[in-house]
Amino acid sequence: MRGFSTQCKSEPTPRNVGEKRKVHVKISVVSEYFHVSQNPKPMPLIVEKNADAIISQFLGTGRAEVQAERDAVYFTRVSDDIVIPANTVRGAVRSRLEVLFDCSCYNSLGNKPSTSVSKKYKEIFKPRRKYSDDLENEGKVCPVCNVFGTAGLASRITFTDFKLTAGKVSYVNVQGYTYEVATKNSVFEGDVIGNLSREEWGMVLWGMGCRKGKFKVILMGRFKFQRRDFARVKFEVNDQDLIKACEEFETKYSKYLHDVEEDWE
Ligand SMILES: [Zn+2]
Repeated sequence: MRGFSTQCKSEPTPRNVGEKRKVHVKISVVSEYFHVSQNPKPMPLIVEKNADAIISQFLGTGRAEVQAERDAVYFTRVSDDIVIPANTVRGAVRSRLEVLFDCSCYNSLGNKPSTSVSKKYKEIFKPRRKYSDDLENEGKVCPVCNVFGTAGLASRITFTDFKLTAGKVSYVNVQGYTYEVATKNSVFEGDVIGNLSREEWGMVLWGMGCRKGKFKVILMGRFKFQRRDFARVKFEVNDQDLIKACEEFETKYSKYLHDVEEDWE
């Protein structure tokens, strides 16, 4: 069927063979703003500045004005660090491979956009209909599940949280909410650790947007399908050998790869 090739499927690689490699990765913000939060919808924070006055007003009049303020929507933090959570980075990489690499199946465990953003998502990514692997009955998986894991199959790749290491934090009002944002040129850094083959590392870099040795713009974080001034990042891996591996992956699988422009106008 179009959009899915079963020819790339294989039996899963044993999970614990091969040498573990740690790859340092940077993510730079190329849009004006960038925001990732754990709570997608901010909750209003009730500020009761003078509870006694409110109570006496209520007792006197049967009504009371309670001032409700909406708190800022904060960037994700781990301890004191501002971070892009590991799962956000992992999901971004995996979902690119799922939608743009025809050897990949559609994994039901993957990140999927909400219905409210699906129009823009479909416009950009033009997702094709795919099937999920059936490891239990077929004994085989696609190359993406073989690395990232699936039901009944452990992952062979780990992402750390990506910490903000350079740049600036600011506050922007969007539709009545104040968002804490990292501004343009901010840099997040983390590691990707796995016992992958060279070809698999090449595939992972392709999922990070590496094209012919250069990294393209990837959409990540809040408002990626709503606002041009948000959510555009570029990955960076300073390892020429892995970039070479990615170019080899591109050449070998060219007929199964189709790219899209994420940097929409
Ligand atoms: Zn799969």
